[in-house]
Amino acid sequence: MGTEPVIETVNTCIVDIPMKRPHVMSFGAPTEVNFVMVRVQTRGGIVGWGEAATFQGPTWSEESAETIQVVIDRYLAPLLKGRNALLYNPLMEELEQRFRGNPFAKAAVEMALLDVAGRYLGQPLHVLLGGAFRMKLDLSWSLASGSIDTDIAEARHMMTRGHRIFKIKMGAGPVEKDVAKLALLRRELGPEVGLRADVNQGWDRRSALRALRELEESRPDFLEQPLPKWDLAGLSELRHKSAIPLMADESLSDAHSALDIVREEAADILSYKLTKLGGLARALAVHRLAAGAGLGAYIGCMIETSLGSAAYLHFGALLPRLDYGCELFGPLLLAGDIAAKPVTYEDGRVLVPEGPGLGIEVDEAQVEKYRRR
Ligand code: MG
Repeated sequence: MGTEPVIETVNTCIVDIPMKRPHVMSFGAPTEVNFVMVRVQTRGGIVGWGEAATFQGPTWSEESAETIQVVIDRYLAPLLKGRNALLYNPLMEELEQRFRGNPFAKAAVEMALLDVAGRYLGQPLHVLLGGAFRMKLDLSWSLASGSIDTDIAEARHMMTRGHRIFKIKMGAGPVEKDVAKLALLRRELGPEVGLRADVNQGWDRRSALRALRELEESRPDFLEQPLPKWDLAGLSELRHKSAIPLMADESLSDAHSALDIVREEAADILSYKLTKLGGLARALAVHRLAAGAGLGAYIGCMIETSLGSAAYLHFGALLPRLDYGCELFGPLLLAGDIAAKPVTYEDGRVLVPEGPGLGIEVDEAQVEKYRRR
């Protein structure tokens, strides 16, 4: 170990990577993912990377790649220069106190700091943060091609590669079609596969109640975010009227919303994403609170590259219980990656990287290839 890792430069760029097929959700059908890449370099020459993934504008949440980049360049980065990257927790708290909101921007910065810290200490993130409970996470593949025939073919293909969990995106069309689609998938894929559904806030209370009754027959593991994120009373009502576990995704953005969900009994399971929660430290804090209240855990995604997926994987390794696995399929759905060696998939599971920091070597030529000009 040399002198402490003092941050010398913080650079960002926007990277646009197409998907192999459009991803059809209730709010739109993005064809590419827009990333903000953060590159932090120390005086000693250690380089750490972070990323924030978004779907073509402020569509999933209020942040877009463009706003994230401005917030980092103009407000977060100047505070980081000259500071010790090992002190990432107080540093991130300082940013939190100084600048409101913008969790995606903060998460991307924290990711790069954690990468630097791990590389400086020569340890993978999951070791640095106290040790892994697991090194392989069950992987859910999202079926969202917009065509049921393509979805079935895609699921069959993934099953030949060992995948056993599928999530269907709902809320883009009529409720009856969504219900029929899940029933068809259950018939076509058999009783053994895990099926889940994500509505991305697409329904109102009445449609959701009707759908839940009819979906029960197809035995989904859970139904995710059927109602607008603010409607916790509605989620609570649904939850008490249905046997299908409910998951909160968009409704969960921080510790306050987690407390509200617990208080309102609005969900059985929470979907954790490092970006929406403002980083790994905050995600761990929310998880402690929610797990203590008896809520199950799932790791969602924003279709990250291998770099972002790696950060989520270390987080997943650190959770004592991960009841429903993860959906870190980004590297499989994206048409390109920025990693020299992508994360590894094996028998329907994804492996936690073992190298120092995030454990991913960024290929700067690939970053350059996809960099927005
Ligand atoms: Mg979701």
